[in-house]
Amino acid sequence: MTLGRINKLETFGSVDGPGIRFVVFTQGCPMRCKFCHNPETWDFGTKSANGTANGSFEISAEDLLKKALRYKPYWGTDGGITVSGGEPLAQIDFMIEFFEAAKSAGVHTCVDTCGVTFRPTGEPFAKIERLMKSTDLLLVDIKHIDADAHKELTGHGNENIIEFFRYLDRIQKPIWIRHVLVPGISDNDEALTRTRDFIRTLHNVKRVEVLPYHAFALSKYKELKIDYALKDTQSPTAERVANANEILETAKYTGWKE
Ligand code: SF4
Repeated sequence: MTLGRINKLETFGSVDGPGIRFVVFTQGCPMRCKFCHNPETWDFGTKSANGTANGSFEISAEDLLKKALRYKPYWGTDGGITVSGGEPLAQIDFMIEFFEAAKSAGVHTCVDTCGVTFRPTGEPFAKIERLMKSTDLLLVDIKHIDADAHKELTGHGNENIIEFFRYLDRIQKPIWIRHVLVPGISDNDEALTRTRDFIRTLHNVKRVEVLPYHAFALSKYKELKIDYALKDTQSPTAERVANANEILETAKYTGWKE
């Protein structure tokens, strides 16, 4: 049995997958996205950047599923469980146990991942193959289509993330793609057009969402004493959001349930 380290639970999530969902936020993420809303989930241990407790706790897959199933009557036909983060696939052994148990209980399973832990060979690949058997839907970000700009924005290149997209396409696993629109970083027509051209090569995309950048998490960064790199960045205008939706052809995908 593998224990999962969890930062928090949300019992009535409505934005992380279809329908009403029980959302699990795992603790620990290898990325450092400049716009991250959840910097308290970065550390893999029990302490946050300022040395205080991050509130995370350990739990078995069985106990977590028991908690989730209390809310099953609210899920209707569309809802279920989403695991977000942090980076859920950094705890893949726990994820396999949790999703296999959830599928046995007839629950719709969704994982919100940045894809950075993907490896195309060996034991890590065998584990992802196994996890995909009990995963119904993935929410995956394209944080930046350009590898160098991706590294500047998140601390990691995007090469294995692109490989992850290709793998999910090969196995025809349904995905929703999300793109955070950051003025001066990802909000330019050249990058958006390259992103669209990449999305067009995939055959498993059910939805594409543009998420306008905003600085709602600024107070968390102050509290954690982490420098907030985007402090001078404004949210994109409505016109730029509309422009991104048009270039990324989001209307072509929106409306697909899963
Ligand atoms: S991958 Fe997600 S949790 Fe990790 S730093 Fe980026 S936005 Fe935050």
